[in-house]
Amino acid sequence: MAEQPQALLTLRSEALFGEAQHYIPGGVNSPVRAFRAVGGTPRFIARAAGSRIYDVDGREYVDYVASWGPMILGHAHPQVVRAVQQAAELGTSYGAPTEGEVTLARLIASAFPSMELVRLVSSGTEAVMSAIRLARGYTGRDVIVKFDGCYHGHSDGLLVQAGSGATTFGIPNSGGVPADYTRLTLSLPFNDLAAVRDAFAAHGERIAAVVLEPIPGNMGVILPAPGFLSGLREVTSQYGALLIFDEVITGFRVGYGGAQHLHHITPDLTCLGKIVGGGLPVGAFGGRRDIMGRIAPLGPVYQAGTLSGNPLAVAAGIETLRLLQEPGVYEALDANTQYLCAGIQAAAKQAGVPVYATRIASMFCLFFTGQPVIDYASANTADTGSYGRYFHAMLGAGVYLAPSQFEAAFVSAAHSRGDLDRTIEASARAFAAAAQR
Ligand code: PMP
Repeated sequence: MAEQPQALLTLRSEALFGEAQHYIPGGVNSPVRAFRAVGGTPRFIARAAGSRIYDVDGREYVDYVASWGPMILGHAHPQVVRAVQQAAELGTSYGAPTEGEVTLARLIASAFPSMELVRLVSSGTEAVMSAIRLARGYTGRDVIVKFDGCYHGHSDGLLVQAGSGATTFGIPNSGGVPADYTRLTLSLPFNDLAAVRDAFAAHGERIAAVVLEPIPGNMGVILPAPGFLSGLREVTSQYGALLIFDEVITGFRVGYGGAQHLHHITPDLTCLGKIVGGGLPVGAFGGRRDIMGRIAPLGPVYQAGTLSGNPLAVAAGIETLRLLQEPGVYEALDANTQYLCAGIQAAAKQAGVPVYATRIASMFCLFFTGQPVIDYASANTADTGSYGRYFHAMLGAGVYLAPSQFEAAFVSAAHSRGDLDRTIEASARAFAAAAQR
């Protein structure tokens, strides 16, 4: 594992991490936060503002994790904070409907015309889990097709081993998931339309839905090959299966209307999360009126939540979406991220470090491989040791990237050119050091 630069400055984080491990499994409430993939001690965060996060040791970082995607406006945006404060004064939860939920559902439906009816939940996991149940309830079929390396939250049936490329029914890749729960999940290589056609030819009458991240962000960032998404739309329609876009990351990120707007595809169901809650816990799923009409209380497919549509989370979501509608937001995000990626790529090239960069709008990934990355298998050609060293060099230089090779980096509207230049310069130093190893 990579050496941690400036380890002396992390004493408070180290102490907290030590204590955390007495009370919390692995010291963290979500596994990737534990830095296991890159080594070292996770920084405990004290606060955040704009493009920056600050740890308990008093260090400041330019942040590209963005809470794993939600913070597209930057941290603690004053208007979002004010909206949450105002909502809190009125009570934090009622367990009864509110006007805010109607407003947020309307905003979502107008951004995503495919989402004629929208149900709010509290996480991305819940959104996809519920959409899958609905797809099965609507079609009366049981089999779900997913893609190797796509993550859809931690519900049992979706925690399926990334297969070896063969058309095999799923083997769970988490303890505690009975093989029977995942036998109905078929995992195929992303961008491989022929594999999908074969699966439908063999099992088409049994397939309830194809679920995917239309632009995957959970095996690093991978772009759909031309014709892949439209091919999925075609084959699902042909067999009467539903097409479910998991836009938990891409929704309001790759553009206000998500990947479906960008690629002109109308899925039957869409799952959202992250940005739609403005940094508070929200998820959403929605889609065609006749399909959504099967959800309780309209229909027999049960789905519920004590804190669903929570007033604080909804207030943060509404304010975030309103701010994202201001002219030029996405154009600036795109231009800034393009500038950043070009700068980092040029630095890698100059140092002779093989880096394959993928980018769409304000999300990107630097794969430490000389090969093009188009799916899970090619993503796995990346050298995780090199990524770990790069990660720690950047952390030491005050740039906070995801502590794993297989995650997206996110630029926010609060990142300045100064932040980006600092990141490019730190990258150039890290690549130069790597080249000398
Ligand atoms: N789908 C996708 C595409 C995701 O990236 C994630 C989380 N990273 C989820 C679903 C699950 O969301 P959550 O962590 O909010 O449950």
